[in-house]
Amino acid sequence: MSAPPKQPPSDADPEWVHQGLQATARKGPIATTLALLAWYWGDWPVFTVVVSVTGVLLLVNLWLIDLYAQRYGRGEAEWPRMLANAAGFCVLGHSTEWSPLVWTFLLYNMLWFYGLGPRSRPRLAVYLLIVLSFSLWDGASREGVLAFGLLGAFGYLITEKRASLMNQMVRQVVEQRGQLEKAHEQLQQAHQRAIAQEKLSSLGVMAAGVAHEINNPMSFVTSNIHSLYKELGRQPSLPEPLREYMEEVLPATLEGIKRVNAIVADLRRFARGDPEAYAEYDLNAEAQTALRLAQGELSHCQVEVELGNPGLQMGRPRQIVQVVVNLLANAGHATAAGGKVRLSTHREVDGARVEIRDTGTGMTPETLRNLFQPFFTTKPPGEGTGLGLAVAHGIISAHGGRIEVVSQPGQGACFTVYLPRVPPLPNYRRPKDESITEGSQPLA
Ligand code: ADP
Repeated sequence: MSAPPKQPPSDADPEWVHQGLQATARKGPIATTLALLAWYWGDWPVFTVVVSVTGVLLLVNLWLIDLYAQRYGRGEAEWPRMLANAAGFCVLGHSTEWSPLVWTFLLYNMLWFYGLGPRSRPRLAVYLLIVLSFSLWDGASREGVLAFGLLGAFGYLITEKRASLMNQMVRQVVEQRGQLEKAHEQLQQAHQRAIAQEKLSSLGVMAAGVAHEINNPMSFVTSNIHSLYKELGRQPSLPEPLREYMEEVLPATLEGIKRVNAIVADLRRFARGDPEAYAEYDLNAEAQTALRLAQGELSHCQVEVELGNPGLQMGRPRQIVQVVVNLLANAGHATAAGGKVRLSTHREVDGARVEIRDTGTGMTPETLRNLFQPFFTTKPPGEGTGLGLAVAHGIISAHGGRIEVVSQPGQGACFTVYLPRVPPLPNYRRPKDESITEGSQPLA
């Protein structure tokens, strides 16, 4: 695997640009100091001054100022650094009678004090004022003072402009990187959703096949049991065991067959492989279908159903069933034996809402945050795929609706699905598609 590319600093920090410039700016004074030492070799009094000033400035710049910066902050440390360098410059200028070599320190110091902070300009102005007035007072050539003063000031301004442009560019790069990361994340989510839909549609085709296989023998069983029931009913008298069959066993069997047929019909309707067209549907009827499909997951709970009058909706009913089945199954999984799961439907001003409330384990803030992520599951391997809510979210968003969740650990959960009466056109997306709230209202 290749190493990850080196990242620029997390934010376009002027300090970062400053440090980069300083690293280069340091090389100039070192070269000039060496030139001064070579120039005054043999002129020992000046040589000694150059060595001493260089030593003191090194000490101040590399060690004392860092200590000061650690205590009072980098911005504050620039003031004493500036004063120390101004003093060193004046001493060197005086002892070398303002050699042009010493004047080059003025230029380096402009970069040395560089910074884009609001106080860097006043600091530079104070520095210039100190060194230029001292050099004039000390008898330096006016022409030299003017030339180096102007060079220093404009050198600073040009560097400042360049650095600010660089900062801007760094900021743009960081911003673009952020946008790219976001786009990449969205792409990944879309990819995961596509995988989820793909898995689900294969599952749908499989379920449709199984339902078809069950349907054929079930039609024989249904018709045979009906015939038997009718035939026995026509008999004037029946022996005791057969009468018991006629009165108890066969009606119960027929009831069981009716339920199996209803489930098979639901399964076929729900799992048909062809893309479903928009249709008008009765939300209550679909909620009841979902309840029947999810019954296996809810057998250990007390199930309460409160169907309001949500009215007719437009949309893809099979998908709505799929969402409610997922939510009911999750409620059942989270609820211990004897706990309550309540399914209710309600009318809204411009649509309807379905509420699935349980008295189960509830969710931690961490789970709430990741709830709709594909493949997020807290269930043991083999029990949860982490696809149910991701798919539910995709379906409800496509219907122009939203899912709201209220939950707290140990206090159950309430999932509310809001659906507009008519879904938006396919290329229209509502900006807000889900919201999660902590805190729960347990079942009464
Ligand atoms: P799966 O059910 O396969 O884990 P889902 O996407 O349906 O995938 O659910 C993701 C996770 O959300 C679950 O693993 C569970 O932690 C949490 N969850 C969903 N519904 C509930 C609920 N009613 N109560 C508690 N936790 C829930």
